[in-house]
Amino acid sequence: MSAFVLQVQDLDESGKEWNFAIGTDWLSSALAGTELKPTGHEGAFHVHAQRTGQDILVQGQLSADMLASCARCLADVAIDVDLAVAALFSPEHTRPYSSEEIEVRLDETNRDYYGGTEIVLDPMVREHLLLEVPMKALCSDDCEGIPIPERLRPPNEVFGTSALDARFAPLLKLKEELTKKEE
Ligand SMILES: [Zn+2]
Repeated sequence: MSAFVLQVQDLDESGKEWNFAIGTDWLSSALAGTELKPTGHEGAFHVHAQRTGQDILVQGQLSADMLASCARCLADVAIDVDLAVAALFSPEHTRPYSSEEIEVRLDETNRDYYGGTEIVLDPMVREHLLLEVPMKALCSDDCEGIPIPERLRPPNEVFGTSALDARFAPLLKLKEELTKKEE
């Protein structure tokens, strides 16, 4: 179910405004299958769209909160998205067919196509949200990662008296004797 839909018939050259709420349900399904989680707060998507010839220029301001996992300690990391987005939607019948033409048009960032009477912005919103998340999110720059439990740490002193391996006993005795001689 698309949440951010513009009716093409509503659009003229002076443009029109939309104020969408980014619901938590929408966010949950948009983030499904990613490492990201919604925070339970609604986001907002303010859109201005206008017709320019047969194309529709969409400009928007997108704000939403998400949670990523710290790459080192797995703690939640708040990702607050607040960014301007823009895309130019052309009628589906103008979509290039030859690969040569597609290559040329790839230079034009954020061009998309619409068919029928609606422009669906859901994929664009999702894409921008995912692009805002760093490859390695960190809870803080000096995060030291998951603390290693004491019992899993390597012993500090191999020749410490506690938990000494019986096989080291002769060596320890020798060490004691040598130390005595040095005194
Ligand atoms: Zn961390």
